[in-house]
Amino acid sequence: MKYRAAVLHTIGGRHSIEEVELQALAAGDVLVRLHASGLCHTDLEVIDGALAYPLPIVLGHEGAGVVERVGSAVTQVRPGDTVVCSWNPHCGHCFYCERDQPILCEPFTRHQPAGRLLDGESRYRLAGGRLLHHFSTTSTHAQYTVVPESGAVAVPREIPFDRACLIGCGVMTGVGAAVRLARVEPGSTAVVVGCGAVGLHAIQGARLQQAGTVVAIDLDPQRLELARVCGATHLLGPADGDAAELAARVKALSAGRGADFVFECAGGEAPLQLALDCTRPGGSLTILGKVGVDRKVSLRFGSLMGERRIIRSSYGGARPRRDFPWLARLYLEGRLELDALITQRLPLDRIDEGFDAMRAHRTLRTVLEITH
Ligand SMILES: [Zn+2]
Ligand SMILES: [Zn+2]
Repeated sequence: MKYRAAVLHTIGGRHSIEEVELQALAAGDVLVRLHASGLCHTDLEVIDGALAYPLPIVLGHEGAGVVERVGSAVTQVRPGDTVVCSWNPHCGHCFYCERDQPILCEPFTRHQPAGRLLDGESRYRLAGGRLLHHFSTTSTHAQYTVVPESGAVAVPREIPFDRACLIGCGVMTGVGAAVRLARVEPGSTAVVVGCGAVGLHAIQGARLQQAGTVVAIDLDPQRLELARVCGATHLLGPADGDAAELAARVKALSAGRGADFVFECAGGEAPLQLALDCTRPGGSLTILGKVGVDRKVSLRFGSLMGERRIIRSSYGGARPRRDFPWLARLYLEGRLELDALITQRLPLDRIDEGFDAMRAHRTLRTVLEITH
């Protein structure tokens, strides 16, 4: 079988839309006919060389579509199911899976950085036979993808594909951080530093947990407006002063103590220090932002004192079979904002325009609408 995919051949290069040859499905594989794929900042990190993956590769890890075919051992999904892809499939029986830490699943962490599926193989070849790499077992910037069974998660078919795909990364990471990991409490004060896609979803998670006060902090007025749409009760921007003044304002909103739950979603030393300074003694800080893996971060040690709980998360504590259908239903019930967060829609062959817009901060979420 052949289909079209956006292939990245060189760091810093443009994608080329090429025909890809699919190898035979293994027993645990699911072939998904994709209809929508979100562009995430992690894809851009690979393109720009900040995150090293073998090339050539098909990027994309926020995908939604319909199951086309399944391997002989697959039982959880069947052809015709609407699915969202999970970028963290897991084997279910390694050291970490047995300890309910699937994000650290050993076959996943061994083979995923090498651009392979959990069995260490690639199912893709370029025309001419050259091996093509998978990205985080999803590779959704394409007409089709092959994922392990635990990476194809059925959701209600009523949710449109362009909304559903967002659940696979940004929504799960942000909402999950607030609901599943930090476990924001009703009536509490929550602060989100950085209102990109993940930060906006952390705000939604805090709202879903019935936080009493939800403070959004960002430099961009348009993002703050979206934060209001997502449920922030207070907005703090550049007009509200420097970092010390911002932290003082957060304290003033929380009886002088600081916030119960803080989410750092910007990435960088200054936002991390601000997030710590907004956290009350005994409160929790969840770090979702990223800096380069080789970069050092210096923090004021005193801001770490006081029995703070610091959580680092990549995927919001995702248990995709539990969480993806729940998030899809929240959207269908009108309790999760997704429509306002899609700021650009493009066909697959204009993928690079989406990444250009992301680099220039001109889009919050770009979704590829994939045709066949
Ligand atoms: Zn992502
Ligand atoms: Zn495992």
